[in-house]
Amino acid sequence: MVIIVADTAGFCSGVKRAIQQVQEDLQKREVFCLGEIIHNHSVVEHLRDLGMITADSMSDIPDQSRFVVRTHGLPKDVIKQAGERNFHILDLTCPKVKKIHHLVVDLTDKGYFIYIAGNPDHPEVQAIFSLTRGNAMVVKDPESVRKVPNSRTAVVVQTTFNPEKFLLIVDEIILQNKETRIFNTLCEETIKRQQEAKRLSGIVDLMVIVGGKNSSNTKTLYNITQKRVRSVHIESAPELEEHWFVDVRKVGIISGASTPVEEVRRVNEVISGYRAKAI
Ligand code: SF4
Repeated sequence: MVIIVADTAGFCSGVKRAIQQVQEDLQKREVFCLGEIIHNHSVVEHLRDLGMITADSMSDIPDQSRFVVRTHGLPKDVIKQAGERNFHILDLTCPKVKKIHHLVVDLTDKGYFIYIAGNPDHPEVQAIFSLTRGNAMVVKDPESVRKVPNSRTAVVVQTTFNPEKFLLIVDEIILQNKETRIFNTLCEETIKRQQEAKRLSGIVDLMVIVGGKNSSNTKTLYNITQKRVRSVHIESAPELEEHWFVDVRKVGIISGASTPVEEVRRVNEVISGYRAKAI
C-alpha cells in the first residue's frame, strides 16, 4: 500500500501563528479564551495543561483577565466589553480575517450593502457581520440571496468557504443587482488544501481526512473527497480501523487547518504499520 501525505498537512499559517503566540504568553500567566481556541481537542487539552482556561461566556471571565481573541475574530460588542472590563487582550485574529474586517468597515462607511457569503453560525462570519452596522446579509447558498434596495452592493466571503458555492452565490447576486463589487476573500491556503484534496482523491482508493469533527474547513475537505473516492474523517490516530485498508493500494492523508502535523505523522505511522503487516 502506497501512502501519500498532502503537502498542506498540518496547521495553516494563521493557526500556527496563534498557537505559537499563545504558548509564549502562557509562560507568563493564565489566559482566558471564549470558546475553544481552535477546533482540535488534543491542542486544546495541551494548552489547558499550560494554563489556558476556556470560558463558555464573558460572565465566566474575571475583570482584568488576560484574554485571547481567536483566529476567527470576535464580534465588535464582545471586544468592546473586553475593553470595558480591562481585559489584557492578545488579538490572534488571523491577518487574512483582519483584512476582511478593515474592508467591511471601509465599505460600510462608504454606504455599501454587504453580502457575506458564508455559514451564518460560523464565528468568523458573525464577527464580520458585527462590523456592518446591520447593513449586510449572510448568504449560505444562492437560494438565500435577496435583492436589496441599495444601489451599491459588495460581496465578501468567509475565508474557509467552499469556492464553488461562492461562485454560485456571486452569480445570483450579479443577476439581482446592477452594481456589485466582488471581493474574493477566500484564504488561498484553504483553496490550496481543497485543490489537493481533489487531486489526491482522483489517484487513491481511500482518503483519510484528519481534523476536528466540529472544524468547518475539515468538513469541507471530507465533502470534497467523499464525492470522488471512499473517505474517512478522523480526529486522531486511535480512531483508525485496520479493516478500512483491506484491498487498498493507495491511500491519501490530508488534514484540516487546525490539525497539528504531529497528529498527521501519528496517523501515517499507524497506517504504515498496517502496510508492514500486509508485507
Ligand atoms: Fe487564516 Fe486561512 Fe488559517 Fe483561516 S485558514 S486561520 S484565514 S490562514
